[in-house]
Amino acid sequence: MRQSLMNDRVGFAIVGLGKLALGQILPAFAHTQHCRVAALVSGHRDKALKLARKHKLQDSMVFDYANFDRLADQADVEVVLPNSLHAEYTIRAARGGKHVLCEKPMAISVFECRQMIEACQRADRRLMVAYRCQYDPADRALRRLVKEGKLGRLKTFLSSHAFQIENTPQWRLQRALSGGGALPDIGIYCINGVRYLSGEEPYEIAAIQQSPLGDSRFREVEETVHFTLGFPSGLRAMCHTSYGTHRCNFLRLVGTEGWAELDPAYSHAGLKLRVAAAARGQTAVDEPPLPAADPFALEMDHMASCVREGRRPYSPGEEGLQDQRLMEAIYVSAREGGRPMKLDVIDGGTWRGPEPAEAAPRVM
Ligand code: NAD
Repeated sequence: MRQSLMNDRVGFAIVGLGKLALGQILPAFAHTQHCRVAALVSGHRDKALKLARKHKLQDSMVFDYANFDRLADQADVEVVLPNSLHAEYTIRAARGGKHVLCEKPMAISVFECRQMIEACQRADRRLMVAYRCQYDPADRALRRLVKEGKLGRLKTFLSSHAFQIENTPQWRLQRALSGGGALPDIGIYCINGVRYLSGEEPYEIAAIQQSPLGDSRFREVEETVHFTLGFPSGLRAMCHTSYGTHRCNFLRLVGTEGWAELDPAYSHAGLKLRVAAAARGQTAVDEPPLPAADPFALEMDHMASCVREGRRPYSPGEEGLQDQRLMEAIYVSAREGGRPMKLDVIDGGTWRGPEPAEAAPRVM
């Protein structure tokens, strides 16, 4: 695709300049086709001014949280703040006429997710949740295998996403800012992964939650959650998320005719796909090459094309709302000792906009 001229690109204001914004999102602009950094919003003016110079922005394009509402008209908004602030800045941005790309988890309650969707609808603005894996070629190749029936009927999804969280003062360990522990931060990848890859929504959920007594990291939020999801087709997902084990980050999807796994599955780059399918012989395990890509750039380009063309994003607010609904059910089940919770079966296909324009890679 032709590289667009800088001024034709959709301008993004980055709200929050923490690890993700500095390490992944700002560098990803260099790999986008349709996006440019238009403004920065931060509580640390010196840091923001330095970054503004690096990105060739005038000082007037640096805002703080108090004057955020005066953001230049041309900038859309990417919210990269602690989870509990996503709703406030999404709603303020929509009221100011901005489209919003919001980091995961979308918010810290179903109520907030609904308010965000409503604010963007009322303002006729696009709202997309930054589920970068849905734009990663590895996940798209795997979704294509599933859709084309190459794994047969899906039976089992196994996944773990975990790491040892540092014992330092940080918002991830404060419930008011994070909304929970490992589950909304990293367990959400397993939930979103099985929903996206299977194309199904669960009818049942059950969970067990653990936090070691006396570990000061887990005074406010949980350490570990084991959870299972049941799907109408018979597929079952078994997932583990934790802030208290060695780094672990994989998924495996097992069907009647084959299996496929991503390991790592949820990293910022370098996802690896392995596939074993009857069509390829009983024992053959392929590691198909995948196109190199920056999933942050791909998701931002998708947002930019939705803004330009007035289209609904592939991962709109309703996608974040559904994960939040499921996480709330997981916490209720865990509080009730793992009792399975029945869920209203909904058709997830109804809220998505069209897939990204580039075809998903074919690996078989
Ligand atoms: P971080 O702590 O590094 O950055 C958060 C930023 O928010 C900091 O610049 C901080 O100064 C600012 N901030 C503003 N108000 C604050 C307040 N009241 N308390 C604390 N900080 C405040 O966090 P991060 O790792 O960059 O995560 C930011 C968001 O991005 C989170 O929602 C997280 O879930 C999400 N995230 C997404 C991915 C992904 O791959 N999509 C990866 C990591 C994080």
